[in-house]
Amino acid sequence: MDLVRQALEAGFFRATDTAVIVYDLDRLEANVTRLAEAFPERTGHAFAVKSCPLPPILSFLAGLGLGAEAASLPEIHLALAAGFPPARIVFDSPAKTVEELQLALTLGIYINADNLTELERIAGLAAATGVTPRAGLRVNPQAGLGRIKATSVAGRYSKFGVPLEERAAILDAFARYPWLEGLHVHVGSQGCPLDLLVAGVGAVFDLGRDIDRALGAGRIKTFDLGGGLPAGYRDSDTPPTPAAYVAALAERCPGLLSGDPALVTEFGRMLAAPCAVAASRVEYVKRQKGHRTAVLHLGADLFVRECYNPKSWPHRTGLLDPTGREKTGRIGVWHLAGPLCFSGDFPVWQARLPDIGAGDIVLVRDVGAYTLSMWSRYNSRQMPRVLGIRQGQFSVLREREEPQDVVRFWLGREKSV
Ligand SMILES: *Cc1c(COP(=O)(O)O)cnc(C)c1O
Repeated sequence: MDLVRQALEAGFFRATDTAVIVYDLDRLEANVTRLAEAFPERTGHAFAVKSCPLPPILSFLAGLGLGAEAASLPEIHLALAAGFPPARIVFDSPAKTVEELQLALTLGIYINADNLTELERIAGLAAATGVTPRAGLRVNPQAGLGRIKATSVAGRYSKFGVPLEERAAILDAFARYPWLEGLHVHVGSQGCPLDLLVAGVGAVFDLGRDIDRALGAGRIKTFDLGGGLPAGYRDSDTPPTPAAYVAALAERCPGLLSGDPALVTEFGRMLAAPCAVAASRVEYVKRQKGHRTAVLHLGADLFVRECYNPKSWPHRTGLLDPTGREKTGRIGVWHLAGPLCFSGDFPVWQARLPDIGAGDIVLVRDVGAYTLSMWSRYNSRQMPRVLGIRQGQFSVLREREEPQDVVRFWLGREKSV
């Protein structure tokens, strides 16, 4: 709340900005510290680029010593441009092409192969180039689904990884490829309770033990336990802390934290989501029988999941007057409508807020992950200005798009407007 008032007062949330997003970089650093302190010192924490690909955020995290988890070729390039050393980049994707694998091998990026055919490809490339791959295999622990089906990837069926039940084929792959050094598991993103995360990691950890037993102690050198720790989006949410997660892992998997195998994590949401707030000026207020609507400048362009699946993706809200002071008074039920041309465009349906007037500023909290990174070009609106604040100093992390920027996007490369 205060951050947005400060941004107004400092002139960073300008009169011409219909909306801004403000990142609290001190809080992001604190979240990184909390994560790093919970795990053994040598753990490599790879930030999931897809959760927040803003280059200044990535550079900030690279500077804090994190690695990067890239799930596409451009995400690799984003990570490199942000200053992550290739050795600290993890490449996950279910659709890696030969060219992408070649680049990863050449740069010495760690590859988590999604399937056995991909391992064959990597083996072929390694033989042709003489490069020894750094690679692991993604295994679907088949531990079950979380609360949100669309972000759960450890059901009996999943498009990701080799199912755990194909144990013989997995063992065979480790026997065949001496360079295959790691196991990778990711259970889901948001909506997975702690015991499900731990069960998934535990199942693949046990598999690693079996592989070590069959092929020699120390065969599994790297264990990548993925991301998936949830963030809190409601006042009543109490997401598990990294320390609680590590304690539960230690109980289920004795030896996991011994330093051998080396650990890698891939968190995104729990680090970044709580660190940003979106603020939109209210353009119009509409009153109809039984409904009060505030029309905002942020809708399903920023809040894709929220608008299409509102029950799964709630957000806390707040209300400021045009000068940035918190509004109080009798609470009513308000629909927060976006600016886009479709009827599902409500980032928050039935928010409980004091009386809203045109020109007021509506806040939507916990937007630091999986919001801007999912930005939709539908209706071709301008991405808002993104601000960061660190030790009391504001900076512009990404400038607001001008209409010409959007025109250029649709024109594609090498055409002038
Ligand atoms: C999305 C994803 C992550 C990050 O998940 P969070 O919920 O943001 O921690 C990590 N690893 C893989 C393979 C993913 O798909």
